[in-house]
Amino acid sequence: MQTYDAIIIGAGPAGLTAAIYLERAGWRTLVLEEYVYGGQMANTPEVENYPALGKVSGVELSTNLYNQAVEQGATIEFDGVVSASLTAVEKSVTTQSGRVHTAPVVVIANGAKRRKLGVPGEQELAGRGVSYCATCDGGFYKGKTTVVIGGGNTAVEDALYLANICEQVHLVHRRDAFRAGKILTDALKKRENIQIHYNAVPAEILAAEGKKTVGTVRIRDVHTGETTDISAQGVFVAIGLEPDNRKFAEELDLDTAGYILSGEDCKTSQPGVFAAGDTRTKALRQIVTAAGDGAVAAFEAGNYLAAR
Ligand code: NAP
Repeated sequence: MQTYDAIIIGAGPAGLTAAIYLERAGWRTLVLEEYVYGGQMANTPEVENYPALGKVSGVELSTNLYNQAVEQGATIEFDGVVSASLTAVEKSVTTQSGRVHTAPVVVIANGAKRRKLGVPGEQELAGRGVSYCATCDGGFYKGKTTVVIGGGNTAVEDALYLANICEQVHLVHRRDAFRAGKILTDALKKRENIQIHYNAVPAEILAAEGKKTVGTVRIRDVHTGETTDISAQGVFVAIGLEPDNRKFAEELDLDTAGYILSGEDCKTSQPGVFAAGDTRTKALRQIVTAAGDGAVAAFEAGNYLAAR
């Protein structure tokens, strides 16, 4: 069985950048990914703030990064990590397929996943009109009406993306001011087929009459309690991210929200274990800061390996 110096959990910008840097420093690296390479980046229609690249699609950026990591020699397997043992000098991870991999270094770069609304109908209609990825599923709603929930960069980007495909897009935000950046919110104003519902939250998602797919989104005014029904075929939930670190909680220090506690050096509470990208405590979660973390984690991991 192949042996590795480092196991990287996650093939988003942090994990793949760490793989490039580790391989270039001569350390044999295995990347384990549960879903698709690129992580959240792959779900982003257009990236406009990655330095020097102008406008680039999230899929293109993800593919370039994946290819670069492979060209540098990293082994990438699509087999998610289900458990890990991180306290011994030789760490081990077990994957969905039941394989066990060991290495002296583990870099956790598993990102964060989309938060759920928790309203009636969401779970029942997931995949039947309720979606968490506009770029993946938007194409199903050509000429139809969709509702986007949220007020951050993702929600506004999703609304703008869907406005190119759908006849009508409703954007539902719980406050009267967006969290999203000004360039995006200014772009919203230019789109005639986006209707914004401020100070509103979804109360329930209902199936279309006689069908098992979305037909109505019932929203509630947060001040008056009044409800309004929006007739729509698709709902895109974009209310932020949450970490997925429960499997590490017994061995690593996490903050109250579940992010891995680490400083800018990406070191965690366990020697030889590093955290990079959205999964760790940090002020700014962006592709460029995730990639930066990947480089730093690889540098620190290399120092750790060299000192053994
Ligand atoms: P986010 O910035 O955390 O925004 C989440 C939005 O959902 C907020 O507007 C929040 O409302 C709302 N929300 C949260 N819980 C809710 C609930 N239960 N019901 C209704 N609304 C709820 O998340 P994000 O937009 O997914 O972005 C995640 C990170 O990626 C951010 O750091 C973001 O800047 C970054 N990102 C950057 C870009 C870019 O730079 N182009 C693109 C995408 C994402 P409040 O505003 O009231 O809290």
